[in-house]
Amino acid sequence: MQARERSRSAGPSAGHGILAPMDSAAHPPSAALRNPVGAHVPVAARGLAGTGLAYARKVGAEAVQVFVANPRGWATPEGNPAQDEEFRTACAAAGIPAYVHAPYLINFGSDSGATRARSAESLRHSLLRAHRIGALGVVVHTGSAVGRAADGGSRYAAAMAQVREDVRPLLDELDVLGEDAPWLLLEPTAGQGSSLCSRMEDLAAYAAALDHHPKVGVCLDTCHAFAAGHDLAAPDGVGRTLDALVAAVGPGRLRLIHANDSMDVVGARKDRHANIGAGHIGADAFRTLLAHPATEGVPLIIETPDGRHDPDRVEGARHTADLDLLKRLRTEAGPVLRR
Ligand SMILES: [Zn+2]
Repeated sequence: MQARERSRSAGPSAGHGILAPMDSAAHPPSAALRNPVGAHVPVAARGLAGTGLAYARKVGAEAVQVFVANPRGWATPEGNPAQDEEFRTACAAAGIPAYVHAPYLINFGSDSGATRARSAESLRHSLLRAHRIGALGVVVHTGSAVGRAADGGSRYAAAMAQVREDVRPLLDELDVLGEDAPWLLLEPTAGQGSSLCSRMEDLAAYAAALDHHPKVGVCLDTCHAFAAGHDLAAPDGVGRTLDALVAAVGPGRLRLIHANDSMDVVGARKDRHANIGAGHIGADAFRTLLAHPATEGVPLIIETPDGRHDPDRVEGARHTADLDLLKRLRTEAGPVLRR
């Protein structure tokens, strides 16, 4: 996903007041859905509630993901208490699950002490901000083993030791926040460079390094998994991938799905998201995903393009279309309401 896309404002034409209800009689509260489907929403112009929730309503999002800091920087802004409260209250009232995506620069596998220190500070900030805005989890990329070992070999083992050393204390801090502490959601990457975690099997060692802490979960990005060689478009590809995930970390750890189609073929190790049904993964895979037992109760968040290269675009139109398609696939997949 592109930073420009992420930081862009929803614009003044959102068309709904920010105090408009998030749902109506025709739309059950998101919490009642087997899989709420939503979007990463921009917050730059008028904040979490002013811009983020207005955009969420515009595109029909039943779940939201936000940045609480510049995703390509190290700043740790305090946030706006009024916006935080409005965001938290509106999400709670509508049963909209919210998530925070931590900045991309975070890498606990780096061979730079300064990068590791900044990574810890940045992730701590995202966790605390998430708690303040009522978010259920913080998504963080699993990182890569940058640099070479002294003997010229892989730094994988050293990098995994660093993950434990740097992240484990943050989980202890979560314990202090109590029951409503956000989950730390590990997002495997597309497999570029020396990824610590791109295949589902890689999650086993990562979760073990964090002592299988009860707040450690997984965010599965379908585009990343496809790029890393999990062929979601093949017959039973979705089932095998989800089974591998559960085998690696155990049941109940999959807490969020980044639903993105892929512009590239399976195994390409490229992270280029496509609109749902418009890439090499295809719509059928998402229907299958929405019927698998491992995805029961797990929200889907799109991080797809919104046509910024199309001069005739209506902002949000492609996100609306992606969410409409996911909602249709969800209906086709089976019962919409849980129990
Ligand atoms: Zn993602």
